[in-house]
Amino acid sequence: MMVLIKQNFLERQTVYIYNSFKVMILELSNRNDIKGFLEKQGFVFKKKLGQNFLIDGTVAPRMAEFSADENTGVIEIGPGAGVLTRELSSRAKKVVAIEIDENLREILSKTLEGCANTEVVFGDILKTDLHTLISDKLSDCERITVCANLPYYITSPVIMKLLRENLPVESITVMVQKEAADRICAEVGSRNAGAITAAINYFSKAKSLFFVPKSSFLPAPKVDSQVITLEIRKAPPVTVSDEEFFFKTVNACFLLRRKTALNSISSALGIEKPQLRTVFEEMGISETARGETFSMETLACLSDKLREIV
Ligand code: SAM
Repeated sequence: MMVLIKQNFLERQTVYIYNSFKVMILELSNRNDIKGFLEKQGFVFKKKLGQNFLIDGTVAPRMAEFSADENTGVIEIGPGAGVLTRELSSRAKKVVAIEIDENLREILSKTLEGCANTEVVFGDILKTDLHTLISDKLSDCERITVCANLPYYITSPVIMKLLRENLPVESITVMVQKEAADRICAEVGSRNAGAITAAINYFSKAKSLFFVPKSSFLPAPKVDSQVITLEIRKAPPVTVSDEEFFFKTVNACFLLRRKTALNSISSALGIEKPQLRTVFEEMGISETARGETFSMETLACLSDKLREIV
């Protein structure tokens, strides 16, 4: 089977597959084309791997625009059938896409035919040594970014891995569930904030980019999505004496969402309430305050004080 890629009409999303003198034109973001092609390849969507592939031709180009230019090395997580990968490939210096599902190997070899600057690595993003991957494959790129339509079952662990490993990455542009996006992009100290808001804010500035309805995917998930971008900070907005303990404190503040921060921290960190009350008093925090009202400065100061007593 020979594949010829044409870079014109709907450019990067159209693949021409030549098979025994027959030409199959495959538009990667066309529902029927991709459905038929994947079926022919014997591919079955796996819900547990968050496999909802993009079939709205306008989304991948917009995401790629935010992430790639000719000097950029892009890490993509979960290329699926390659619709976003091709958009990234046409704009970036290099693309390394990490895919867990070996059943996509043959498919990606066809749909990414001609994408000479692109490599697919098969493995689990959560187990991938990204420092080594970057130094082995992207060291000649001026800047590194991450771009992905994330598998939703691992949204938070993937984002936290990318942020906490101190990678030489400038920005992370990802599609996540709308609800997760609202939480991530909320103001720290506002009603919508959660532990993830503060944790992400420590490393980056989160910005909501655009809405993507569930009808834009095959198969359609139950929820809508949102594309967000995280611009990595050069330094955290607050200083803490123990970063690990800071994240423990943040999680503790939000563990019991309907309870006061005092109750929540007490059960999460096993600190006696009278001792906690003293710390709250010293800091001028009300006993009835909830975690979502805490600013980054309050969380940092609280973490440093609690560290001394646990
Ligand atoms: N990028 C494609 C698109 O937009 O159409 C597919 C996105 S789909 C939401 C998520 C992709 O992530 C799937 O291809 C899935 O197999 C892959 N995936 C799931 N878990 C993964 C993991 N732990 N490591 C790497 N890839 C994973």
